[in-house]
Amino acid sequence: MLTIDGLKKALRNAQSEIEAHKDTLTDLDRAIGDGDHGINMSRGFDAVSAILDDDYESLGALSKKVGMTLMAKVGGAAGPLYGSAFVKAATAFGDATEADFPLVKQALEEGAASIKARGKSEVGQKTMVDVWEPFLKGLSDSDDYAEKLDRLVHDTEDMKATKGRASYFGENSRGTVDPGAMSSAIILKAIMKEVG
Ligand code: ADP
Ligand code: MG
Ligand code: MG
Repeated sequence: MLTIDGLKKALRNAQSEIEAHKDTLTDLDRAIGDGDHGINMSRGFDAVSAILDDDYESLGALSKKVGMTLMAKVGGAAGPLYGSAFVKAATAFGDATEADFPLVKQALEEGAASIKARGKSEVGQKTMVDVWEPFLKGLSDSDDYAEKLDRLVHDTEDMKATKGRASYFGENSRGTVDPGAMSSAIILKAIMKEVG
């Protein structure tokens, strides 16, 4: 079960993992982008951690606030995408104060659909979508979430980017893991850990 406190714990955990990987995220984005992804995500999750001390009456209310905060603070391409994912997930969580595995999965699927709609992106373009969509596809509560997420991040390395800034690098985008795929894995790992 994912409770309100569980989601808060997941987001605090995500913040510290993003902080720990800030330089890696930035280095990856320096190779195939503009070198700000770690900085953007760190700024966004610092702002998220500041709103976690407030009280929320539902998972929906918390998720919506997280989404609005990410939208306002992350910036770049990733901010509106992550923001819309949490805002859309909030509609699936609704008034619930705890969510079982199927509801969490449904909320994340809504989030993934929102990223694709906003980013006009599909799987195979070397973006965060290459983590969100295949991770959720056929996801079962007996899966090793962390192992699956690590593998999906790794799989972006050989892809050629056809969306976002990395697409300007063409063939040269191969050989580097997508930074948004890595930050997505950090966030999803933290959430799934609290679902159990
Ligand atoms: P910016 O590219 O504006 O500097 P960031 O560096 O914060 O923004 O985020 C880059 C990440 O955003 C990429 O690694 C990729 O995963 C993701 N991204 C960029 N454009 C799209 C898109 N159209 N659809 C899905 N994800 C995208
Ligand atoms: Mg960037
Ligand atoms: Mg940028």
